[in-house]
Parts: sequence; C-alpha cells; structure tokens
Amino acid sequence: MIKGNVHVLHSNLPGNAAVLRALFISLSESRSLRAIAEKSSFGQRVSTRFVAGTQVDDVMRATAAVNRNGATVSIDNLGENVTNAEEARASAQIYYQLLDEIAKRGLQANISLKLTHMGLDVDEKLAYDTVSGLVAKAASLKSFVRVDMEGSPYTQRTLDFVRELNRVPANQGHVGTVIQSYLYRSEKDVQDLLAEGIRIRLCKGAYKELPEIAYQSKADVDANYVKLMKTLMTSGIYHGLATHDESIIKEAKAFADREKISRDSFEFQMLHGIRRDLQQQLVRDGWKMRVYIPFGTEWYPYFMRRLAERPANLFFILRNMFRA
Ligand SMILES: Cc1cc2nc3c(=O)[nH]c(=O)nc-3n(C[C@H](O)[C@H](O)[C@H](O)COP(=O)(O)OP(=O)(O)OC[C@H]3O[C@@H](n4cnc5c(N)ncnc54)[C@H](O)[C@@H]3O)c2cc1C
Repeated sequence: MIKGNVHVLHSNLPGNAAVLRALFISLSESRSLRAIAEKSSFGQRVSTRFVAGTQVDDVMRATAAVNRNGATVSIDNLGENVTNAEEARASAQIYYQLLDEIAKRGLQANISLKLTHMGLDVDEKLAYDTVSGLVAKAASLKSFVRVDMEGSPYTQRTLDFVRELNRVPANQGHVGTVIQSYLYRSEKDVQDLLAEGIRIRLCKGAYKELPEIAYQSKADVDANYVKLMKTLMTSGIYHGLATHDESIIKEAKAFADREKISRDSFEFQMLHGIRRDLQQQLVRDGWKMRVYIPFGTEWYPYFMRRLAERPANLFFILRNMFRA
C-alpha cells in the first residue's frame, strides 16, 4: 500500500533541509499523528496554507476567487487508499456533488481524483464503475475528470484504467491522466497515451521511487520534464504543464513562442497556495493557468508532502499565524 511518500531530489540539498524532508516524510506516514492533527482546530488552521477548508462550500468559495483572478481550477477531494466500499462510495458522492455545484454556480473548474480513493484496492470493478459514472456525468456537463497519478505500484493500473475509460466514445476529451517525469518509463507512456488522443498532465512526481525505475537527481528529472513537455506541446492535444519551476516555465514559454504554439492550446498548472505571484503573472501575460485546489477532512498526508517539498514552508506558516 502506498503511503504519503515524497520523492526527494537528493542533489543540491543542504544537510538540514534533507533532514527536515526525511522528518516530514516519516510524519506523513504516522497514523496516530494524522488522527490527532485532522481533528484538531490548530491542525486545521495550519493546513489552510495549502488546503481550501473541509467543506464543499469552502472549496467553491476558493474556486470562485481563483476564477475572478482569471485562472481555472481543478478540485481534489483529499483522500487516498480507502479500505472499504462504503468509503469509496462516500468519496464518489462528494465528487458528484462537486460537479453539480460547479455547473450550478457557473464556475470554470473540473475535478481531480485518485483511484485508490475510489476503491481500486478494495474492488477494482467498483472503482471502474464509480469513475466511469463520474466521467459520464462530467461529459454530460462538458467538464473533465483528471485521474491523478499515485506511486509506481499504480502506474500501469492507472494508465490501463484511463485508456479503458477513454475507449467509450462519449468519454473522449473528458478524461485524462498524469505522467511523472521522474519515471524512466514515461516517454513510452506519453507516446501510448498520445496515440489514443488522451490529455496528459505532466508533473515531476511526488512519491519516493527507487533508482531502478526513476531518476534521482533534480537535473535528470528536470531534463526529462523538458523533453516530454516539448512532445506534449507539439502534439495538437490540450495538455497541462504542472510545475512551479520558474526555469522550466520560462523554457515552455520560449518554446511556445519559437514554435508558434498558440497560448490557448495548453495550460500551466500549479497547486493552491504555492507561487501565487507566478500564477498571477502568467495570467496577466495571457497564458492559461489552472490551480489545483484540494479540500476535505483528510488533508494531513497531502499537507505533509507539501512541507517535505519545501521545509521552509513550515516557518512561513507559523510566522504568518503568529502575525495574524
Ligand atoms: C497541478 C499539480 C498536480 C499534481 N499532480 C500530481 C500527481 O497526480 N502525481 C504526482 O506524483 N505529483 C503530482 N504533483 C506534484 C509534483 O509531482 C511535484 O511533486 C510538485 O509539483 C513539486 O515539483 P515542481 O515541479 O514544482 O518542482 P520542484 O523542483 O520541486 O520545485 C521548483 C520550485 O517550485 C517551488 N515549490 C515547489 N514545491 C513547493 C512547495 N511545496 N511549497 C513552496 N514552493 C514550492 C519552489 O520555488 C521550488 O524551488 C502535482 C503538482 C501540481 C502543480
């Protein structure tokens, strides 16, 4: 079972940061701390840096605010690895509610989900039927379902699942998935998905993977990101470039200008609460920008993954809390 592991790009890490990252990784896996944190009001206050509250209304307000600033949204109902069918059905219900509320309020938003949250490890057929129902609903609303990518034990299963969904003609263009540039296999996976016209979100990857299957250094992960990014941008299919990495974003913009790739043929994507300045700048400069907004009661592993990516966030959050 995948826990909240974080991919650590070892090179260029000063000693203290590496220790803090390792600490946040192990904290992300602590069940007891998670149970305490998710119930405490202090924990909920701290998590608001990256998570838009616990209720559907909270995330609708956050979505409307992002839309007013000119960016679109993908909403994630936080959670992973449910252990029974009841939990899987309850998670799916929230996604149905999200799709209805987005349509009712006329918001520019779609949904992102994890297959283990929809019961993949409990009953694969149940997960397929559930996600299939959500994609059909999204298609009827001209919306979209992004199937997030989890750790490597789920890579092939996730790709097979999404390709199966995309074979239904009415679903085409309404379901897509994610490719992680740290995996060696990703170039081939990109080719296979493109051959079937499937929309891709490209990210670096957030889990801890072994050197047998994944690049370990930031330089290698970044180089593969840029290579795959160029393939996506020239594919004629609408994809998402998910990163906060300014040098990669700069390269994407220069490539688009050089190759005369229109600014509305792809989008940049970033996480709620991270590099808002850069998000706004891209919108002002006429690029498409989508913000991934997570919400829900199960915020702890997600929050810890964000702290592990940048331990300095903890000090930033605490300083702001004590200022407030
Ligand atoms: C929209 C979106 C969807 C994603 N979906 C998935 C998914 O389905 N599966 C998956 O494995 N991963 C997913 N990720 C996470 C991704 O794989 C990376 O772990 C994460 O985005 C950090 O990588 P980076 O590209 O920003 O580059 P990095 O090299 O990690 O960071 C580049 C710069 O970005 C800034 N930055 C990065 N992270 C933070 C942070 N937490 N706080 C503050 N600043 C930060 C810093 O300035 C840093 O120097 C997603 C990311 C985004 C943006």
